[in-house]
Amino acid sequence: MSDITTEAEVILVTGGAGFLGAHLCRKLLTQGHQVICVDSFLTGSEENLDSLQAHPNFSVIEHDIINPLPNNLYPTQIYNLACAASPRRYQADPIHTIRTCVQGVFNLLELAVEQNARILQASTSEVYGGPKEHPQHESYHGNVNPVGIRSCYDEGKRCAETLMSDYARTRDVKAKIARIFNTYGPGMAPDDGRVVSTFICQALQGKALTVYGDGSQTRSLCYVDDMIEGLILLMNSVETFRGPVNLGNTEEISILDIARRVCGLARQKTNVEFRPLPADDPGLRCPDITLARHHLHWKPKVLFDDGLKKTYEHFSQRMEKGTLASSPM
Ligand code: UDP
Repeated sequence: MSDITTEAEVILVTGGAGFLGAHLCRKLLTQGHQVICVDSFLTGSEENLDSLQAHPNFSVIEHDIINPLPNNLYPTQIYNLACAASPRRYQADPIHTIRTCVQGVFNLLELAVEQNARILQASTSEVYGGPKEHPQHESYHGNVNPVGIRSCYDEGKRCAETLMSDYARTRDVKAKIARIFNTYGPGMAPDDGRVVSTFICQALQGKALTVYGDGSQTRSLCYVDDMIEGLILLMNSVETFRGPVNLGNTEEISILDIARRVCGLARQKTNVEFRPLPADDPGLRCPDITLARHHLHWKPKVLFDDGLKKTYEHFSQRMEKGTLASSPM
């Protein structure tokens, strides 16, 4: 993907101080756009924005999207990445999570109507719940527990997809829905409990890696640069293509295998401690990306071992600099 586009847009990135959001802001700036990052800083961090703050086309607004957006914003594109995304974080305040997904998306859609802006919603593989179809195609409607501890996120994101679709159908909003599968890479929060960052931090600290259940559950992990490319391609795809579209890697891997590979990078013998599997933890997850390949000509390029090495090196440098403040469980 070229780093220079011909038409500069004014782009609002909500959740821009989060892991994916900050990578997206950086990429959009290199493409010559004006980027406004909106973040509540509940889970996003200033540190993620350090290298962007001085950029002349970049600005930051501290704001929680559950409240209507300030009325002096004139975006031509809106990426909504605002929501705690790790199970530990989104379960910490489940009512706020569902308000972010529903009220927040409603507020952004109203802004999109007012400004005639394109809007992309970061949805999730969690809409498939504990899938009974494998791999998951977009036509599969999922198997979600509406009253479980993951429901605030899963059902919230499902409702957000409904809102996006209804605004597109009834208010002509140019809406795009990306179903994002597990993504990893430099800049992940060290303490939000996600499997890759947790394992790497544990290995760097010489601790046992905490494997939940027997570690046979699988995920397919997409390197962050690939994911950002997919999101930008979707936003700029033909107006008639709304999605939802799966974005993720198709290389499926068990959690125990991830633990083994991280220990390998740390040049340690595999050192794991088994813990109980959290409720509703999906046993399998892998996207069917036929739709993205066809409509966006997109597929992930980074192999898991290569991406994991880059991520490991990033955390290792943060540890040397002493910026790996919190110690994961
Ligand atoms: N997991 C684990 N140990 C950890 C953190 C996560 O075994 O310290 C497992 C978790 O139970 C799940 C998978 O790794 O099966 C991915 O968890 P994560 O929180 O990264 O994302 P999820 O896909 O569940 O949203």
